Amino acid sequence: MNVILLGGPGAGKGTQAKKLVARLGVPQISTGDMLRAAVSGGTDWGRKAKEFMDAGKLVPDELVIAIIKERMTQPDATGGSIFDGFPRTVPQAEALGRLMADLGRSIDHVISIEVDEAELVGRLGGRRTCKSCGQMFHVVQAPPRKADVCDACGGALYQRDDDNEATIRSRLATYDKATRPLVEFYRQKGLLRRVLGVGSIDDIFERICAILS
Ligand code: ADP
Ligand code: ZN
Repeated sequence: MNVILLGGPGAGKGTQAKKLVARLGVPQISTGDMLRAAVSGGTDWGRKAKEFMDAGKLVPDELVIAIIKERMTQPDATGGSIFDGFPRTVPQAEALGRLMADLGRSIDHVISIEVDEAELVGRLGGRRTCKSCGQMFHVVQAPPRKADVCDACGGALYQRDDDNEATIRSRLATYDKATRPLVEFYRQKGLLRRVLGVGSIDDIFERICAILS
């Protein structure tokens, strides 16, 4: 099964993608995670990508499309994937359509996780992530039992470089301009399903699963 999760920064795509991996047995493909891994790896293009990410701008389409192409052809992804944070522009969506066709695959569902902007700003500003296992917390809405320590594994929590106020504002503007048009793009293809992205993580997950089954 191939599923695309659409939604603004902080809408919960990553959280729901991880739950879908467990439910569906196909991998999560997160361009954000892959780009952050490249940034920590200190490669040349990792350094380039970081400049865009820290400014709340999109990394160039050619780069993310190349990353996706490589990832989709790895053995664990042949049975499908959960796309989280990709596509983010119309050219990326068109490239994905071509890649899928070349591989004899197709997109089953596009799920738009809908959360209003004020809520997104609050979520992103308080977000903390575990360095070791990736588990996410929120200083107010979902605090860890012990400050800055992961409940799941005891790892250290950190705040993403792009989760500061100025970058958050710019990411939201980028989303409106470049990514929101994909809602209409996939609606026209008859693939779009909307899900309310507020409530408990499990409730939202059930809404998504109801669409997939
Ligand atoms: P969020 O959805 O919370 O903004 P992500 O982890 O998906 O976070 O992305 C972080 C940053 O990585 C983005 O602001 C952007 O700079 C870059 N990025 C991730 N995915 C893409 C993509 N598909 N195209 C271009 N840039 C991307
Ligand atoms: Zn952890």
